[in-house]
Amino acid sequence: MVISCSDFNCTKRWSKESDLPFHRFLLKHPELLKKCITSVKRKGFNPTSCSSLCGNHLRQDDYVVSPRTWKKRLKPEAVPSVFVFPTHLMPPNKQRR
Ligand SMILES: [Zn+2]
Repeated sequence: MVISCSDFNCTKRWSKESDLPFHRFLLKHPELLKKCITSVKRKGFNPTSCSSLCGNHLRQDDYVVSPRTWKKRLKPEAVPSVFVFPTHLMPPNKQRR
């Protein structure tokens, strides 16, 4: 199965050649999962065990580097927060009447 990013506007797919990490949703942590779903802002989005988000939606400080292996790991409480929304998908501007 192809692992692709769950973000509506992101076309990233996981590949062996790329060093872009992919992260699964924490289905066993309802509170964190709720936060993640809220930040994805995708209507009716219901992540499954196959849903993943690419590392582009996480900040550098959402990761910790293991002092032994120098590998980056996602912090257990990290919530994806980097999303770019095209203007036509943004909620209507309230100032405009
Ligand atoms: Zn993505």
